[in-house]
Amino acid sequence: MISQFILPTNVQLRADSIHSEPGILYIDTSVCQTCSICPVCNKKSSKIHSRYSRTLLDLPISGHLSKVQLKARKYFCDNPECPRKVFTERFDCEIKPYYRRMIRSNDLLARMALELGGNTGAAISRYAGVPVSPSIILRVVKRLDIQPKKLTSGVIGVDDWAFKKGKTYGTVIVDLAKKEVVDLLPDRESATLSEWLKQHPEIKTVSRDRCGPYALGIKTGAPDASQVADRFHLLMNLGDATKRIFQSKGKELREAFTLYNQPKNHPAKTVETESAVQNMLQITEDTLTTANISIDKLHKFEKVKDLYSKGNSIRQIAKTVKLTRTTVRKYTMMEKLVKRQAHTTTNLDAFIGFFDAGRK
Ligand SMILES: [Zn+2]
Repeated sequence: MISQFILPTNVQLRADSIHSEPGILYIDTSVCQTCSICPVCNKKSSKIHSRYSRTLLDLPISGHLSKVQLKARKYFCDNPECPRKVFTERFDCEIKPYYRRMIRSNDLLARMALELGGNTGAAISRYAGVPVSPSIILRVVKRLDIQPKKLTSGVIGVDDWAFKKGKTYGTVIVDLAKKEVVDLLPDRESATLSEWLKQHPEIKTVSRDRCGPYALGIKTGAPDASQVADRFHLLMNLGDATKRIFQSKGKELREAFTLYNQPKNHPAKTVETESAVQNMLQITEDTLTTANISIDKLHKFEKVKDLYSKGNSIRQIAKTVKLTRTTVRKYTMMEKLVKRQAHTTTNLDAFIGFFDAGRK
């Protein structure tokens, strides 16, 4: 009676007794099946060789760790042509050879790992009654049989991603129409990408960064596909180039400021000069105020303006661009994105006069 509540029902097991130690519940279990299949020749055998004990971690019971102590058996293989003479008992499901954990317990860890990652998954597992380390969580994920998606929309983006930042990198392939990750490649070599593209003849357009190996990989793997530079890297390159130009023109900019601040009656400052300097200062100011804004922020700002002009609601835009509604509302009211000015006044300012008076 108790077996059907605490043991998996898809495998023939019977709970004989239950005993406990602090924090751990042990369930002594016997196997009900009368035969087993040889893993080499797949022939059934009911000739028992010997018995042995196996301990398997199972789902927690009332928050306590539970371990199934299984009295399993070894069988003779009756097939004279089979090289395996003795084999350990096999089960159709739930218990796999060499596993120290029931499949349903393993599935619970896999779900935690995929939702929470290694460290957080391990931390939560302690509260869930299946305590494991981060490395075990990662091992469970690596064992998962995840098949890459076979077909894409034909428009993909490729970029590198870090297994370990600064040391080892792989390549991530994203379906840009479906907005989902299609596959991860183990490195960022042109040959690997080329091989992947040859298996996906439906690819028509590939968005990439300015990295040479990707260009070569696409050229050899999908010669008919169009290669486009992605907007993120274009904007980043433009931002860097603009910043370099203005940093190298410090002398000219200082001269322009000096010229502009000359007294009104100075003969050198004609109407034309003033107008030209004004234009130059405006361009300089615009560039300098946006030069230090991150590309990501600029990209989001443009996206907000674009979606708003197409009639999307603030709520929809916030969800799409992943910004708060307050920020989206602020962006829609701004003509251009400017760098936030540093706070220049302090509490000391109100008392500066006393210092001056003291010196006198
Ligand atoms: Zn056999």
